[in-house]
This record gives sequence, C-alpha cells and structure tokens, in this order.
Amino acid sequence: MNFINPPLQKLKFKQFCFFLKRDDLLSEDFSGNKARKFHYFLNHDFEGIKKLVSYGSNQSNAMYSLSVLCALKSWDFEYYTKHISSFLRQNPNGNYENALRNNMKISTSQIPRKVIENLDNDTLFIKEGGAVKEAEYGLKILANELKEFILKNNLKNPKIFLPSGTGTSALYLQKNLSCQVFTCACAGDETYLKKQFKQLETNNSYFPKILNLEKKYHFGQLYKENIELYLELLKELNIEFDLLYDMQGLRIVFEYFKDEKELIYIHQGGLKGNISMLMRYKHKFIELFS
Ligand SMILES: *Cc1c(COP(=O)(O)O)cnc(C)c1O
Repeated sequence: MNFINPPLQKLKFKQFCFFLKRDDLLSEDFSGNKARKFHYFLNHDFEGIKKLVSYGSNQSNAMYSLSVLCALKSWDFEYYTKHISSFLRQNPNGNYENALRNNMKISTSQIPRKVIENLDNDTLFIKEGGAVKEAEYGLKILANELKEFILKNNLKNPKIFLPSGTGTSALYLQKNLSCQVFTCACAGDETYLKKQFKQLETNNSYFPKILNLEKKYHFGQLYKENIELYLELLKELNIEFDLLYDMQGLRIVFEYFKDEKELIYIHQGGLKGNISMLMRYKHKFIELFS
C-alpha cells in the first residue's frame, strides 16, 4: 500500500490563519497518525510472524489500524481490553465494529505473560497506542514532507502543533525537524507525557514543548463547547476534526498562536473514532443536531 503526500492547506477560521497538514487524507483505512506510526510494519517483512497482539481501549484508532495491518499481512490479530459494555457488544460501531470486520479477536482477559515477554517467535507485540521506536520511520517521512513545504513556501520560522496521546508522534516529529514542535497532553497530564517521551528517547532536546489550557479536559468525556467547536469547524471549513484530541489541540492553538503567521497544524485523522463519540454527543446534546 502506498500513501500519498497529503496537501498542506492555508486556512482561516475566525480571525486565525494557519496551515493544515491533511494527514486525514493519507489513506482511507490507515488514517493519519496511526498510518505514520505503523508505516514501518507495513513496509517491512517479518519472517515467521503469524500473529500480532496489542491492547488498549475498545474504541481506539490504533486498534482499528492494526486490524487493517493484520488483514494486509495475513496475520491473526489478538487485542486485549479492560471492558466491553453490553451496549457496545449489542451495537457494535466505530473502530470496534470495523476492527471486528477485519477479524480482530478481542478479549477482556489478561495478556499472556509470554506475549509481553516476547517469548513467542511467531508473535509481534505492540504497546498501547503504538508507542514504539519503530514509529519513528513513518514520522520521519512526515517530517520530510513538512521540510519540503517549508522550503518551497519560504517560511521563515514555522511552528508545528499536534495534540498528543502517548506523545510518540510529536516526539519523533521534533527529533526529525529543526523547527519547534508544540503539543498538549490529551490522554494524561504533562507529567505522564514527559514520562512517555523518556521511555522512547533519552535525549531531551528532542522533546516537544508542552502547552496547557487553564481548564482541564478529561480524555473521552463530553464537553458542550467541544461539540460546538467541532460543528463550527465542519460548517466553516468543511473539514471534520477528531473529537478526542483536536478540540483541545485547536483551542490551544487559537489561544497561544493568535498572532503567529506560520503555524502548521497536523490533522491526524482518527475519524472512525468520531462515530462512537458522535453517538454519545447526539444523545446528550440533541438540541445541537436539529
Ligand atoms: C492516536 C492519535 C493521536 C495521538 O498520537 P500519539 O502519537 O499517541 O501522541 C492524536 N490524534 C489522533 C486522531 C489519533 O488517532
């Protein structure tokens, strides 16, 4: 499978001008961020591997992308999650439904020890959210696409922003770019994010700069102002952004980079993950969807 080099678009939202890297258009199946992080696994041969094992939430974008990878590689896909609600079991949707279609075997039991300790020669184990060193391969390609754009368009002092879960994408982007990369912690706090960086890299000059909002947003929770922003972006720009990371990320960008002329925001895809979030939002704020 080949990825395109997604366009960088110049956009204006309210008074704010920025460039948007459309990694959401990278590929239908492997959208955005997870395509970059798993590019290495796609492009390399793994002799003797028959099965891939991973774990995390039951609606994770990584889970779905790994199910696509396994389908392409003809690997079995085993996924471990803490809990699957009876509602989701009876009404499969979003990443969960689509991963099941790709023959994911999902389990709420413990991951076998021998898998975690890498004792099975035919099994590849990938940590939650793709927080692995192999992710650098794809992020380096993204960094090169950005460099080319920066050079071609004669940007003087561009700043890059992308919101973080595990921080893997932001870290490897900073490692491979000389301009400053900024991020925010969506799935944990700043301390968690720094710990994640350190697990992948010892050299802290590669660490992106972490920015915070005064209000603390909790991952996966519903906020009226987030669905309002999502709907406004959809209407004004005709672009769908991700509800778990981008609402926080964009809000930070609007606040911190108001006067910045060369901000590049990375759209990291993840739109299958919106399906379940939108179901919940429609249920809670029905008046916004009439
Ligand atoms: C996974 C994901 C992220 C977070 O990426 P990390 O490399 O874990 O920081 C951000 N946005 C979207 C849409 C994602 O799917």
